[in-house]
Amino acid sequence: MKEKAIVPRVQTEPEAQPEQSQVIELLPGIYQLRGEKPGSHVYLVRGDTKNALIDTGVAGKFQVLKRRLAELGLRVRDIDLVILTHEHYDHIGATAFFHHTAVVAAHRLAANKLELQDEFVTFRKYHDQPTKPFWVDVWLEDGSMIDLGTYELQVIHTPGHTSGCICLYEPRAGLLFTGDTVFAGGTLSEIAVGGNVSDYVNSVRRLSNLKVKQLYPGHGKVSSAPDEDLPKAIVYAQTMLDDCKTFFEAFIKTRKSRAKLGSAFGYWTEPRDKEI
Ligand SMILES: [Zn+2]
Repeated sequence: MKEKAIVPRVQTEPEAQPEQSQVIELLPGIYQLRGEKPGSHVYLVRGDTKNALIDTGVAGKFQVLKRRLAELGLRVRDIDLVILTHEHYDHIGATAFFHHTAVVAAHRLAANKLELQDEFVTFRKYHDQPTKPFWVDVWLEDGSMIDLGTYELQVIHTPGHTSGCICLYEPRAGLLFTGDTVFAGGTLSEIAVGGNVSDYVNSVRRLSNLKVKQLYPGHGKVSSAPDEDLPKAIVYAQTMLDDCKTFFEAFIKTRKSRAKLGSAFGYWTEPRDKEI
């Protein structure tokens, strides 16, 4: 038998990929500090009178956040305001580290849950995250205005993903910070505890009436095509609503057919008229 020539395997170095910067200047004075999983992105808005952070990621990544601020020449005490887009653990986690020097703001419906440390909605303990308590200094409402000098942020209450969700709209530059309400491509988030689909439909309809040039979400890519994304978001939200109807129609059909078969599962059986 002819011996096969053995071709030596050459170990090649993987091609070096250019490292993506974790601090991205989106506009003069507006930075995205990229999310450290499982945390959200953190946005820094440097106005000429005040500096604001939008969300803070998870508590366990605070040191990373601190280093990224240091890259921009900022210390923790240089942050004047922390604005939370909603009450989930991956957006609020490191807030307590800023609380002794910064004002913390969130929508009234998120603030209440945060102050009561409602683990059923924040999911901090569920995800085994350290829970450093803080309270919300300013309870925001739809239409509140935050003036940072160079930039101003209008609060838009956008319930749906949760009841306490807000988006922050900068009307002069046409920016929309969306948290988990809308992502690039018009993708929507899940309906978490406290949220609901019909509120979500109304929220994305309201957003689509704004003049938005840039969409800055809490996760994933930023979008320069909000004119395309927001109409898609309305379609997705409506689809969610329609899917619920389809689901319950199928559920009822299944329940009826099981009742006919005399299913042993009590909760699947059709209730008798007198029990209704
Ligand atoms: Zn969320």
